[in-house]
Amino acid sequence: MNDTEFIHSINLCVKCGGCKAECPTYFATTKEMESTRGRMRLLKAFLSGELVPSKRLTEKIFSCLLCGDCTNRCPLNIDIQEVIYHARYLLKSYDKKRRLYRPLTKIAFKNTDFSVKLYKPFQRYFNKRMAADGLIPEDVEFCENQFKKTNIFLTKDKIGRVAVFSGCTAKHVYPELSYSLANVLNALNYEVVFPNTEVCCGAPFRSLGLRDTAIKYAEKNYNTFSKLNVDAIVSLCPTCVVTLRKHSKILIGKELDNVYDIATFLKEKLSSRITAKSGLDLDVTVHDSCHDRNELRTCGITRAILTDMGAKIVEPHKQTCCGFGGTFSFFYKDMSNVILKDTLKGLVQTGTKAFVTTCPNCIFQLSKLMKDKPIYHLIELVEEVLMKEQTNANTQTL
Ligand code: SF4
Ligand code: SF4
Repeated sequence: MNDTEFIHSINLCVKCGGCKAECPTYFATTKEMESTRGRMRLLKAFLSGELVPSKRLTEKIFSCLLCGDCTNRCPLNIDIQEVIYHARYLLKSYDKKRRLYRPLTKIAFKNTDFSVKLYKPFQRYFNKRMAADGLIPEDVEFCENQFKKTNIFLTKDKIGRVAVFSGCTAKHVYPELSYSLANVLNALNYEVVFPNTEVCCGAPFRSLGLRDTAIKYAEKNYNTFSKLNVDAIVSLCPTCVVTLRKHSKILIGKELDNVYDIATFLKEKLSSRITAKSGLDLDVTVHDSCHDRNELRTCGITRAILTDMGAKIVEPHKQTCCGFGGTFSFFYKDMSNVILKDTLKGLVQTGTKAFVTTCPNCIFQLSKLMKDKPIYHLIELVEEVLMKEQTNANTQTL
């Protein structure tokens, strides 16, 4: 979004309030100025000069989760997330709260392995403190990327080649998910490439108003992944998928048009491989990430895969944001907690033995308070079923 589109979008708003119906920050505070419409109002006043940039203004603009629920609801199709991104870009120099955090984020993401290495000696102490503060789950351990050089997982009877965009959370918090994905893709006869030149998708920079940095990262990833000669690029993280597809086009005018979330990529390929014998004997509740629900629209596909695998799905009374939102859960801890607790309440009420999501960030956030039931990434359950399927096939051959 450029300045002209930004002004046009704000002037287009008729303040009907349709966008705030399920706004998580409005739900958490019940304050109009923490709602979508309130933010649009503030920006209109900022544009007209009625409101000068202030702490109050920046706080309201930076306290949005960028969940996208509002954009889906606006009858005038205003891309509210893009309005917020642009506003953050314009207001970042007035935003004192994140003044130190911006350069630190730039340094930390420049070489995430090096950052983890530096942090490691202090990990036990700081993790304990952050967990006690509700900022991270108790049992989390940050690790270096498992793939120091470009890793290729070969397969027999290859039918195609897939590159994986791991994403920072899968890479540095849940590395086992990457192996699960490689196993699944190999079992489906895809050769799998993990390029070691992958960098952060850029989402954290955009949300901090650091558009120029986000552009640099988008260029780097485009250069890496567009040259790989693969049939598809698959990511375990819906935020990365949206960033690589939609944001890349907005930021650098180029998009990787073969980027897929795992549910979309796997659905058809799995249906011919899953049989009743490999059934997943589990009742689950699905937690849809905001990007799955509001942008990728993959919720139905995720459920279809689970049902095909034999899972029994029990739905919560409604699907809501987990309250993570990257830096949101750090800067707006109380609001984030209110949202998380409400979401968990809905999930727990279903009474199922386990929860499933397709987003590593949602696993991270939900694990802060959910300690007695497992939260699976979809890929772990797909791997389990496919491995069972293979064992069954081998037993029959014997
Ligand atoms: S739904 Fe659209 S038009 Fe209505 S208040 Fe929200 S942004 Fe404005
Ligand atoms: S993106 Fe989400 S949190 Fe932000 S204004 Fe829209 S609904 Fe509210």
